[in-house]
Amino acid sequence: MGLITGATKLLGVMGYPIEHSLSPVMHNAALQALATHKSQNFLEYVYVPWPVTTKALPTVVSSLWKIGCCGFNITIPHKQAIIPLLAETTPIAKAVGAVNTVWPTKSGWAGTNTDVQGFLSPLQTLDRDWSTITPCILGCGGAARAVLAGCAQLGCPQVHIVGRQASKLQHLHATCASALSLDIRTYLWEQSPTVLPHTELLVNTTPVGMSPHIQSSPLSGSEINQLPTNAIVYDLIYNPNPTLLLQHCTASGRTAISGVEMLVQQGAAALSLWLGQPAPADTMRSALLAYFAE
Ligand code: NAP
Repeated sequence: MGLITGATKLLGVMGYPIEHSLSPVMHNAALQALATHKSQNFLEYVYVPWPVTTKALPTVVSSLWKIGCCGFNITIPHKQAIIPLLAETTPIAKAVGAVNTVWPTKSGWAGTNTDVQGFLSPLQTLDRDWSTITPCILGCGGAARAVLAGCAQLGCPQVHIVGRQASKLQHLHATCASALSLDIRTYLWEQSPTVLPHTELLVNTTPVGMSPHIQSSPLSGSEINQLPTNAIVYDLIYNPNPTLLLQHCTASGRTAISGVEMLVQQGAAALSLWLGQPAPADTMRSALLAYFAE
């Protein structure tokens, strides 16, 4: 393990609570690997978790500026509240309405959203004509907004969203459809059987099936069997890996993508932004998988 010295620079993640965050595991593994690669026995950067309440957020953000912090991630519940504290936000962060990565500029803190890039990364390795695909998103919370922005970037003209509250579906439609130039169709869960047979990309953004509720799945094995045989099922949940949903998917011969890859790639995108060099995504993935295996 590299030494923290007087010259070590500061990165971190703020949220409340923060104990559950896996970002320190993968970022410090990457920072250690970069130091080892340079044959250094000291760390140039260290990445730490900060429990920050909503009340303390403005003070913490301005204090981090004063001590020369090199950048940070933001997680629940501050992804929207951070925005007025920034000097600038990227178009993708504006489109999603949330910031997860912040870095210093001459005029103050700047913010972006790397969840979209993280979501897209495993899909971009597949050979599909996205302009002919209408994805179906299960759930209409914060992550669904990043997935919608990702679908727009892929070039999907229309997206179906399934939610359990009509008012939340309407709000998502009102705030995303024109901002992302997407034709968004909304459905309540009981209407989902009508869309499944035409869904070549299904994305679960609900927490159903997340540890410790690993015997739950947003769709049953027989519902998965209604998807086209070439369908991709992408579960944003990263623990367990795979979820029951993805086990149903693999058993049926369809393509499964785990949320681990999105987690790794959104982190790698943030780290490369802070360091100005490519991040070791393989090291970050290995560190996460080793942590889950403990
Ligand atoms: P969120 O804002 O709370 O949204 C969750 C959505 O799921 C809401 O629409 C909610 O419906 C719905 N939902 C919750 N319980 C449900 C149930 N029992 N049945 C049907 N729908 C249900 O959460 P989020 O921030 O979007 O995160 C969602 C999931 O994505 C979490 O598991 C999170 O870990 C994962 N995630 C992964 C990554 C990654 O990098 N892999 C990144 C972000 C998020 P209501 O609105 O009706 O409550």
